[in-house]
Amino acid sequence: MMLKLYNTLTRKKEVFRPINKKSVGLYTCGPTVYDTAHIGNLRTYLFEDTLRRSLEFLGYGVKQVMNITDIEDKTIKKAIQQKKDLSVVTKPYIKEFFEDIQKLNIETADAYPLATGHVKEMIKFIHKLMDKGFAYQGKDKSIYFDISKFKNYGKLVGLKNIKIKDGVTASSDEYEKKDARDFVLWKAKKKGEPSWKSSWGEGRPGWHIECSVMSMKYLGETIDIHTGGVDNIFPHHENEIAQSEAVTGKKFVNYWVHGEHLLVGGEKMAKSAKNFFTLRDIEARGYMPLALRYIALSAHYKSKLNFTWRSIEGADSAIWNLWRELGRLKYMGQKEATKTKKGRLKEHRESFKEAIEDDLDTPRALSLLRRVITDVDISSEDRRALSYKMDQVFGLNLINSDKLYKIPIHIKTLVSGRELVRRNQQFVKSDSLRNKIKSLGYEVEDTLYGPFVWPTRNRKSRPKT
Ligand SMILES: [Zn+2]
Repeated sequence: MMLKLYNTLTRKKEVFRPINKKSVGLYTCGPTVYDTAHIGNLRTYLFEDTLRRSLEFLGYGVKQVMNITDIEDKTIKKAIQQKKDLSVVTKPYIKEFFEDIQKLNIETADAYPLATGHVKEMIKFIHKLMDKGFAYQGKDKSIYFDISKFKNYGKLVGLKNIKIKDGVTASSDEYEKKDARDFVLWKAKKKGEPSWKSSWGEGRPGWHIECSVMSMKYLGETIDIHTGGVDNIFPHHENEIAQSEAVTGKKFVNYWVHGEHLLVGGEKMAKSAKNFFTLRDIEARGYMPLALRYIALSAHYKSKLNFTWRSIEGADSAIWNLWRELGRLKYMGQKEATKTKKGRLKEHRESFKEAIEDDLDTPRALSLLRRVITDVDISSEDRRALSYKMDQVFGLNLINSDKLYKIPIHIKTLVSGRELVRRNQQFVKSDSLRNKIKSLGYEVEDTLYGPFVWPTRNRKSRPKT
């Protein structure tokens, strides 16, 4: 089989054929840094990370670029409200964003360009659109993209002659456009706003142009994959296609891949609806950030997913159990004589690859992981090795089981002491030692090969991962 991805552009699963297998170009729309990201935003970044990890697992080289939107209506509004420089307002949220993705074990992209670092290139790009007749200046001095000049407008969202109500992009009165569907490329300065000089006067770039320019600068005129949340499809990505293809005359993106929303109580999580949680809320309740990652993996990226505190509790405990199972396999591996049945590992490897290649079927891949861990026809060491290999895609830090396996010496001493009295059938003593070990944060499980000891899952105080 070959990797198949659902392409929003063609509305079907397609075999992925990269321009260059050694360097797959992946552009992911990044955060608008005016506030703390909510876990709905993080679900999108997690899906994009799974895509990247899957590509790498399947042997592709990946060059990923994720922009940081620091020039946008919301960042500017906040700067004006707080009477601060734009960079002073965005800086703490940029910092938080990097903290969040690190906690979620999201792989680092190759570049995180800031819009503020690319305004000159954006101005140049808009000049090209003007020269080619795709853009015009409104009476308010802003520059607009003329949708009537671009024949294929609407190909991503799948609508011909899209009717847009005023206000979806910007109100026509406010910006004096020719057509309500036209979108802004350059916004003329309004009083108090941060601005940049251009031949059309002071102003700032629109959001859509930022992504087209940074995508092309770092990845070239045509790229393999562009991702984002489903709410980016229209108008953001549709407009990116229009601007980019109008300038180059070439296809902008071969595969558009979009992740679904995270819901709360069946509703879309949104800042405006005030029904959102952040990663800090999850941590404050004593759960691991990785629990959110587990939740994201447990549903297909194209399915809506309802967030509940019960689901995060389940995910947190599921990760802890995986670590424990793998720790137990390490313990067993040192004692058992099981030989792996011929062909069995290959079977599992292939099923796993198939699940990933089928448009990143992570729920199926997770159930395969559990099957590998419990397969008695495979030696403990081989089960562990294969699980770690699969974790290249999951990113659940399964190798952490090795770290947790290092039980402190004072606990080991207590465990050996308990084993001694237990063998002598001094059960009262052995039980009281078990309780003592438990009070120190460890659990003893009597196995065929002797006592296996493991840290207790404890939401409040747990080893750093
Ligand atoms: Zn974007």
